[in-house]
Amino acid sequence: MSPIDTETTAKDVLAYIDASPTPYHAVRETARRLSQQGYRALDEREPWSLQPGDRVYITRGDTSIAAFHLGTAPVDRAGFRLVGSHTDSPNLRLKPNPTISKNGYHQLGVEIYGGVLLSTWLDRDLSLAGRVLVHAGGRPAAHLVDFRRPLLRVPNLAIHLNRGVNTEGLKLNAQEHMVPVLGLESAGPADLRTLLVRELTSAGVRAEPGDILGYDLCLYDTQPSARSGANGEFLHAPRLDNLASCHSALSALLAMGRACEATCGVVLYDHEEVGSRSAQGAAGTFLRDCLQRLVLGHSDGRPDAYHRAIRNSFLVSADMAHAVHPNYASLHEPKHQPLMGGGPVIKSNVNQSYATDGESWAYFAGLCREAGVTPQHFVTRTDLGCGSTIGPITAAELGIRTVDVGSPMLSMHSIRELASAADVAAMIAVLQRFFS
Ligand code: ZN
Repeated sequence: MSPIDTETTAKDVLAYIDASPTPYHAVRETARRLSQQGYRALDEREPWSLQPGDRVYITRGDTSIAAFHLGTAPVDRAGFRLVGSHTDSPNLRLKPNPTISKNGYHQLGVEIYGGVLLSTWLDRDLSLAGRVLVHAGGRPAAHLVDFRRPLLRVPNLAIHLNRGVNTEGLKLNAQEHMVPVLGLESAGPADLRTLLVRELTSAGVRAEPGDILGYDLCLYDTQPSARSGANGEFLHAPRLDNLASCHSALSALLAMGRACEATCGVVLYDHEEVGSRSAQGAAGTFLRDCLQRLVLGHSDGRPDAYHRAIRNSFLVSADMAHAVHPNYASLHEPKHQPLMGGGPVIKSNVNQSYATDGESWAYFAGLCREAGVTPQHFVTRTDLGCGSTIGPITAAELGIRTVDVGSPMLSMHSIRELASAADVAAMIAVLQRFFS
């Protein structure tokens, strides 16, 4: 375990987020950090050979990743200690036939991914990043692209044409009003495939427009993350939900020195924002498949080894939490108002929107105590609905004891969110206790 420095941590989490404009890039950046520290990639299509103390990672669908530091004791006896988070954030994504020419403009048609706070995407310097599948003989080859420069914009309507906007609210129709402009017809053509080929070529990939067989492309804000606040206490960044938690989980795992008895791991899933039902989402088989194969390679080999391993295991579901908003404090439960900078939040909901119960809360509170951190509590107002996480889904899929926690933040699902540097450092400190 290494001590946590808030300054270094703040810089590092923002670098991680800026390197990860899409889930594809988040997985690539996570894998890069793991490889740099000696983790070895395992391929789900190959047999695995495992030794106690091994450090390995597995990716699925290019958007979910799991990493494990195998314990010194067989996993059926010592169990798994897992932290789960998600790599996806609400955003705009290109449709398969995106090209639109209208009123002299080139535009690109987009779908809305997850619960986007749509108004925050207006008047931003948007770029495009994701995965392009290129013809390569047999299987199409996947390449990540990132245009990096401002390329697109969803222009706001002038107030003169929308006089009631400040008092009646901005009403946005996702099909009609969220279509970004890509250029002017008078300035020349704007063919997406030609633009993609240019990006691929500059990345050293040879391709013709006709070679592009498919893609998964997301829009994102090009404004880099920043520190703010009178004392540098704030983090202004996109995708804090939930890349900040992915970063906390990963940083705690990478800070482990030698293996402990239990097998420690992180799983960063895609598709949380749209319900987790996918091959690599929390409701899919990804984690169970990984755990079953780890048990096969690292247990007494009896038929019930997996079941014993799961009953000896614990999952921390790490996802960002709502800090109290000073301008809307009445929307928060009066006795449960997490403060920014106040430390990790334990999230509870008796209707199982969160997986926390008294036992898992106590377990996490114990870790906080050992780390010298005081946890905060969140429940939603009794007359309001509640968000959810991968916590209850993974708990139900695996039958694993689970606690839902997160760092407090504001502006959740905005294109630019707000969290505190101290909370990120505190969360890493607690997760380091979990992995010790
Ligand atoms: Zn989230």
